[in-house]
Amino acid sequence: MTLVSEKSQVHKFHKEKLKDMSNHLLSKTSFLKSVQCSKAFFLYKNHYELKDPLPKEKQAVFSRGQRVGILAQSLFPGGIDVSPTHVSKFNDSVKKTKELIEQGQKVIYEAAFVHDGVLIALDILVYEGGKWYAYEVKSSLKISAAYVMDAALQYYVLSNCLPHLEDFYLVTMNDKYILRDTLDVQALFKIKSVKADAEKNVEFIKYHVQLAKSIIDKDVLPKVEIGEKCFSPYQCDFYGTCWKHMPTNNIFEFSGISKKQAQVWYEKGFKTVYYIPEEELSGNTKLMVQAYKNHIEIIDRLALQQFFSKVKYPLAFFDAEMYAPAVPQYKGTSPFEAMPFLFSWHRLDNDNAKLEHEYFFQEENSYAGKHLLDKLIEHATKVNSILVFDTAQELKALSAVVKHLPEYKKQIDALKNKFIDFSDVFTHLWYYHPKTKGSMSLKKIYESVFDKNIFDELPIKSGLLASYKYDDYLKETDLFNKQELKINLVEYCKTDTQAMYDLFVYIKVAML
Ligand code: SF4
Repeated sequence: MTLVSEKSQVHKFHKEKLKDMSNHLLSKTSFLKSVQCSKAFFLYKNHYELKDPLPKEKQAVFSRGQRVGILAQSLFPGGIDVSPTHVSKFNDSVKKTKELIEQGQKVIYEAAFVHDGVLIALDILVYEGGKWYAYEVKSSLKISAAYVMDAALQYYVLSNCLPHLEDFYLVTMNDKYILRDTLDVQALFKIKSVKADAEKNVEFIKYHVQLAKSIIDKDVLPKVEIGEKCFSPYQCDFYGTCWKHMPTNNIFEFSGISKKQAQVWYEKGFKTVYYIPEEELSGNTKLMVQAYKNHIEIIDRLALQQFFSKVKYPLAFFDAEMYAPAVPQYKGTSPFEAMPFLFSWHRLDNDNAKLEHEYFFQEENSYAGKHLLDKLIEHATKVNSILVFDTAQELKALSAVVKHLPEYKKQIDALKNKFIDFSDVFTHLWYYHPKTKGSMSLKKIYESVFDKNIFDELPIKSGLLASYKYDDYLKETDLFNKQELKINLVEYCKTDTQAMYDLFVYIKVAML
């Protein structure tokens, strides 16, 4: 009863929001939804309350995007920001933009326009030499197809609202930029015209705008089959609604099968893993599907013996967390340059020894490099093997630091020789648990083997979120909150190496 009433209130709010925005039917977000799926668009417009909760990682990405957008405004200083005070007040922004243009304002931030029922808000609009130039900012190093589509919609509206629109640019982070003594905003960003791409897409945009409007006019939930599109270009916000009745053994949820392949099989009628004919399967996918169907673990004893023969005591389980700020924070670094700020180290001296835990955490807002490497080298001299889950990631982390501290190269090369990639055990199917459904993630493997998700109990559940939370930690001024963030970050990283240890012990026993 409570749930229904809460939902209807949210629904009412959304309806009122739409009513208030009655002179436009589509926003950039709703338009992009309509391109992905007509049902997603209908649900977004009419049943917003069914939208999946926004994951913390996505919220953090949005916040970062907003901060980068504000920083990019200083590329064109002196502008007036016409952002609405509330999402339902976009009409005021449209009106204000119009007034500012008429008054001769040269730079407008978040300039809002409506054409053909589509509302857009542009990051930066600049008037120069009798012409208008549009800039949309992306907190990213590359221009993706989704960004181009997004720009094409904005260009379609703008070119119909501004008689002298000369060009449309995407502003992205410059991967060649290196921070020196002070931040050089002009050099931090890269500006590329996408006008030609936008013009090529005008007919596509017009077609989809009309299609979206016809969905609104019909006011009937479109019948759409689930499939590959639910994951592309992003996982749909209504995934939870559409997929809730799907059996857990549906082929799209089997990570060992690509979404593209799953679509082909789904269309052939093989909706669950059980129905895929043997002759359609090969290689590791075949082994994983067979293991799933028969509920059996794969244990390749010979391969595991060879793997464990390389592991020499004393040994350690090692994992590092990375921080990759869009705007470089430390001298000599570039946008999104990943640097480790935390590592967890579980040491085991022999089969019967007590597991010892150590960690390194960079408390100061300064480059962790030297302190981190000194600590790591100190620990590494006491062990013969270092088990990591996916060596490539940890090697990348260390190489990133050595790039700034070349004097450590020799010691780090020696340390790398002790690395043993524990993920090989799973990716080569020397050990495979059927409940993982082809996933090679440490978290999923742990959950499948031990039938519990130890990460679920943690405030920080993913490496990506840990990276954003470290950013929060650096900015936090309240000492209590800062300490809490540190504890949560260390706990997350510690759980990773603890999970490796638990799996290591389990597999050693399972192979006997
Ligand atoms: S989950 Fe798939 S079918 Fe459902 S609305 Fe989203 S894209 Fe469409």
